[in-house]
Amino acid sequence: MHLELASRDGHIEPAEGISQSPLAVRGLTVSYGEKPAVFSVDATFAPGAMTAIVGPNGAGKSTLLKAALGIVQPLSGRVTCWGRPLHTQRHRLAYVPQRASVDWDFPARVRDVVLMGLYRELGLLGRVRARHVETAMACLSRVGMEGFADRQIGQLSGGQQQRVFLARALAEGADLYLLDEPFAGVDVATEKAIIGVLKDLREQGRTVVAVHHDLSTVPDYFDRAFVINTRAIAEGPVAQAFVPEILQEAYGGRLAGAQIGAAG
Ligand code: ADP
Ligand code: MG
Repeated sequence: MHLELASRDGHIEPAEGISQSPLAVRGLTVSYGEKPAVFSVDATFAPGAMTAIVGPNGAGKSTLLKAALGIVQPLSGRVTCWGRPLHTQRHRLAYVPQRASVDWDFPARVRDVVLMGLYRELGLLGRVRARHVETAMACLSRVGMEGFADRQIGQLSGGQQQRVFLARALAEGADLYLLDEPFAGVDVATEKAIIGVLKDLREQGRTVVAVHHDLSTVPDYFDRAFVINTRAIAEGPVAQAFVPEILQEAYGGRLAGAQIGAAG
């Protein structure tokens, strides 16, 4: 890692204490086959900040999120949330998966998809009551989708589907939001709506960690960047971690000069 903050005596210490961090991983290695997708990654995500996870295709960004959520099992390493084991804090995390990874043909109305976000409150056999529907509708209106509650999810545009999935995550009332490329393939209006909601969450002191593909918007949208290419390359405030030298290391020849310019 290039960027741990050095204190005045030159001693290197993490930017944020692990015990305060909504998400910290240590020595995380995940492998689907012989070659690790994520190798020996240490990461400490800052509370109340918006952090972009950036790196080239296949860099292990999605895998890092999935391991952080316990969706894939790491070969080795440790995940803690607020200094505690992941499984004790799982209820404080909400996840918006990459849109392309979701089967959009399943028959469900928009309202019901958002109600799924309330499953902890509802329980498996819980009855949906008026107040649950109210919460779901309030979340839909935060993403500008209240007029679509009765539509089938599969009939919506990509951007509309993404907003509904964000509404479901909002219904969970989490403290840490993990999103995988929330702006991929969405229209401009949706991108603005989503970034507005994420910034609101930050205002409320929640933590947002998003895999982000579009390097040109990183400085506008995010406070911090975590740069990965299988190994962790850098983490820190955008002005320090999202700089040409580090991006060059992550992307190598794959990074267009224009993008480096935009980043720097
Ligand atoms: P990113 O999100 O940065 O594009 P991923 O985490 O999706 O990267 O993938 C990292 C590596 O792991 C890639 O080489 C990818 O092909 C591989 N990979 C991801 N998911 C699987 C899977 N379910 N089975 C096998 N290999 C996978
Ligand atoms: Mg991915």
